[in-house]
Amino acid sequence: MSPPAPQLAAVTSQTVKTHCPYCAFQCGMEVTRLHGTTTELRIAADPDFPVNRGQMCIKGFTSGALLDHPRRIRQPLLRQPSGQLAPVSWSSALDFIAERVLALQRAHGHGAIGVFGSGALTNEKAYLLGKLARVTLRTPNIDYNGRYCMSSAAAGQNRAFGIDRGLPFPVSDIAETDTLLLWGSNCAETMPPIMQWVYAQKERGGRLIVVDPRLTDTARSAALHLQLTPGTDLLLANSLLALAIEQGLVDEPYIAARTEGWDELRRSLLTCDAAYVERVSGVSLDQQRRAVDMLARAERSMLLSGRGSEQQSKGTDTVLAFTNLMLALGKVGKPASGYGCLTGQGNGQGGREHGQKADQLPGYRYIENSEHRAAMAAFWGIAETSLPGKGKSAYELLDAIGPSGGIRALLVFGSNVVVASPNSKHIESKLRELELLVVCDAFENETSEAAHVILPIAQFGEEQGTLTNLEGRVILRERVQQAPAGVKTDLEIICELSQRLGVTRGFEFDGPEQVFEELRRATAGATADYSGISYARIRQEKGIFWPCPAPDHPGTPRLFADRFHFPNGRARFSAVPHRPAAEPPDADYPLLFTTGRYKEHYNSGAQTRRVAELNEAKPEPRVQIHPRLAQELGVLDGQALTIESRRGSVSMSALLSRDIRPDTLFAPFHWGGKLAANILTVPALDPSSRMPEFKLCAVRARSATAQGGPKRAK
Ligand code: SF4
Repeated sequence: MSPPAPQLAAVTSQTVKTHCPYCAFQCGMEVTRLHGTTTELRIAADPDFPVNRGQMCIKGFTSGALLDHPRRIRQPLLRQPSGQLAPVSWSSALDFIAERVLALQRAHGHGAIGVFGSGALTNEKAYLLGKLARVTLRTPNIDYNGRYCMSSAAAGQNRAFGIDRGLPFPVSDIAETDTLLLWGSNCAETMPPIMQWVYAQKERGGRLIVVDPRLTDTARSAALHLQLTPGTDLLLANSLLALAIEQGLVDEPYIAARTEGWDELRRSLLTCDAAYVERVSGVSLDQQRRAVDMLARAERSMLLSGRGSEQQSKGTDTVLAFTNLMLALGKVGKPASGYGCLTGQGNGQGGREHGQKADQLPGYRYIENSEHRAAMAAFWGIAETSLPGKGKSAYELLDAIGPSGGIRALLVFGSNVVVASPNSKHIESKLRELELLVVCDAFENETSEAAHVILPIAQFGEEQGTLTNLEGRVILRERVQQAPAGVKTDLEIICELSQRLGVTRGFEFDGPEQVFEELRRATAGATADYSGISYARIRQEKGIFWPCPAPDHPGTPRLFADRFHFPNGRARFSAVPHRPAAEPPDADYPLLFTTGRYKEHYNSGAQTRRVAELNEAKPEPRVQIHPRLAQELGVLDGQALTIESRRGSVSMSALLSRDIRPDTLFAPFHWGGKLAANILTVPALDPSSRMPEFKLCAVRARSATAQGGPKRAK
């Protein structure tokens, strides 16, 4: 392979405009190399980037600490017969991987090799990783951790609108709406700079409704907080629509002109009983009526969902209940109105558009659609019959590790699957059954503990690449400085591996911009059409919204003004009856357990737990518990609480708070080992999106320190 050429041509002064390495807001940042060194960086929020407008959160401001971190891996590591990892040369490491992969393919077939990607990868990496899996490895088994993040919102939007783009409008539209409903999102903590748009909406006289089982920082800003029982989002959303019908608040002309499936949906809601909903969800009938009234009577209203409502085994149906509601009120496609999903990971959006998802090919093509297969096979110059079919979803892929499931080798790029997966102890033990585990990362983490090979990679700021933010805006993360000696970019690793596996053609690139050139051509005519986008245009226009089908096309900041993405242009209603949680509380496990985030940490914490400032601010997870429940259990604030589910137990210090319901415990999932919240979570999957039920499982709890034996909530 030709290694990607240095891209420091983009650096014309000591200060470079680039983007944060973490969440989907992709704040613009200005990085200055002080004194011309590569080790002293000053990071400031970019006042000119139109999404964050000069604001960032603590994670972005401290992200420079990752680059020159003393624990960073700077040489490939290979597991020795003694069980220890030892440094080896790049050629030794890559030769070892290629020989093992080829041997496993010969013995067990192409499907024995699994690939696990990430919503943190750039579009270029996601594209090339998908190509490696389908063209070189010829395995169907590639998926990514975005499956754990936005897949329910994606599945729901595809079914309702025929297209999946997190927000169908720029984030600035939030400020222009009259009623904003945030459902299952604590964005004040997870994405703080977005609150400038929420506050601007409030200053204009707009109203905010928040639906969340906890009184979060976001909910504190709301005019109306619906503190529902975890897992009853679908029930409540259906009830709001039933009330809108009852009160004559639906927009009949809009429904007739722009949608289909209304009669069936309306019939399915006839049995909806608001009093029953009040009892089960804990949201009073009066609050339900107020919420519907505020949404329906406002000229402009908007419902944005987050992981709280989506990370459930009925997440897709819950999103469909949201789209049903906003379509029936006649809001979708109107100015500063409609439904959107606040995507989570940095490139959660682009990551699912370019081929690292088990069922997708570049441009949001589907691997089981014969036209889409033919288009990509022709583009890659291979026979359509050689393209594999749909593979296993993220959890199913990991669960299939070992002789019985058939996955013998796993290549992991940018994902800490042991911490991120539900039922994490099971996944940890599964990894130990692998005959080859390759982890590409900048730091050792809980997943790499089982690795046969760890490949050290370049990080943000050391390589270029595009990402697609929560608005569908394609942005360019510029390079700030050279990567340290001894590491390679993911793109280099993919290309060099492919060549060792016998496929050189199509894996020779002179840097990420060349990969993007291929990617954009590959998407021409597809749903997520990037063909009119270039690095030069992104720089000049501060990002471009897809679809953008030609170099002179302005991009598409707003979708659905005239039509939806189906042949007849109409949006589709879906009847989505409520169903209970996969694991409701019972006599043995009487409490609800739900997970979430701290503002100081990002996802599995593999990066942020390495940043001293963040670690000092939040050194450990604490379990949030209502004082009434704490008293019942005999636990005081700061004392250890043991939480048990059917899959395992964790002990964390208790954080007493009236912000949580007395029947629910909350803990963040940013830690591994004995503090991993996902030890408890249940791997029940949404039948459509294959999203695990992260947000709800049954647990019991006891004080780990109580005198006279533990008390247990039963
Ligand atoms: S983590 Fe998200 S909100 Fe925070 S600075 Fe980075 S992109 Fe912005």
